[in-house]
Amino acid sequence: MKHVPLRPALASLPPYVPGARVPVGAAAFKLSSNENPYPPLPSVVAAIADGAVDVNRYPDMYASDLVQAVAAHLGVQPEQVVAGCGSVAVLGHVLSAFCDAGDEVVHPWRSFEAYPIAVTLAGATGVPVPVRADGRLDLPALAAAVTDRTRVVLVCTPNNPTGPAVHADELDAFLAAVPRDVLVVLDEAYVEFVRDPDAPDGLAVLAAHPNVVLLRTFSKAYGLAGLRVGFAVADARLAAGIRAASTPFGVSHLAQLAGVASLRASDELLERVDGIVRERTRLLAGLREHGWDVPDSQANFVWLGLGDGTARFAEAATRAGVLVRPFAGDGVRISVGEPEATDVVLRVARDLRH
Ligand code: PMP
Repeated sequence: MKHVPLRPALASLPPYVPGARVPVGAAAFKLSSNENPYPPLPSVVAAIADGAVDVNRYPDMYASDLVQAVAAHLGVQPEQVVAGCGSVAVLGHVLSAFCDAGDEVVHPWRSFEAYPIAVTLAGATGVPVPVRADGRLDLPALAAAVTDRTRVVLVCTPNNPTGPAVHADELDAFLAAVPRDVLVVLDEAYVEFVRDPDAPDGLAVLAAHPNVVLLRTFSKAYGLAGLRVGFAVADARLAAGIRAASTPFGVSHLAQLAGVASLRASDELLERVDGIVRERTRLLAGLREHGWDVPDSQANFVWLGLGDGTARFAEAATRAGVLVRPFAGDGVRISVGEPEATDVVLRVARDLRH
């Protein structure tokens, strides 16, 4: 019997495993998806509630108010900003704007698990480059993997799930080595959590390199993961290309309003980020004190490269009431949450050592 064929590429698509959900009423801490543990501010909730009466209408297709607010916040032109339904969707639009079938996309691995999926769906060929044993991106190896067929290089900084951010000097050397007609995507989903003084200023990098695109999101520091809103910042010509490849009306009216309200409250939200960074410092120090080998983290999560010990750690954490994110046979990523959650993680880490 005849049947409708799926694209052969789908058969090889790696799965995107969502972080476990907390069952209703359970006392578990959810540290599995790098979310912000704090609920939206009252001003943000009010903006969402006020917008609810308009949802019989399509949203502003280009999210103009949000784009204006982002541009003003970052000190760039509105023409340089493209909003989308989460930065993961914006990444898909970037790839469909710049890649044809068979083009190569160089990306670090292990890194954000959506990369190989998005690259394959764009019809491109992924070229994974291993991250170093210390969890840092190997920028010279990423540059060396560029060929005549490479259209895009993805640079995840800080790298999800391993944690470190790239350094400005190594990024400069990398950008000098990559041809100017290859797009370099700096995925800065966690940029607000970066405190490493050697990390680059993405906006300055963008200003100096017209082949760079920044990807940012409201899901992490701004705590709007459930509304799905992220954006790209690029040279205006490239931004127009990404806009042309975007899903029409991709950012909901409520997400646009919440994004604008969040930027208005950015001082308060970034104070919360400072608190999460303090918790990160305590979590890293505590894990190391208990004898665990943890790479630096400049994001809102830490990485334990446990190999075969991954399942054991994840199960012990679940029993203690904390959901972490195991990557089978490779390691465990633990988001930084409330101080009480840090306490539980450190207890689990101590008990497994002694
Ligand atoms: N980039 C990286 C590195 C991420 O870790 C994530 C979220 N896990 C995203 C992009 C996507 O975020 P969102 O689609 O929620 O904006």
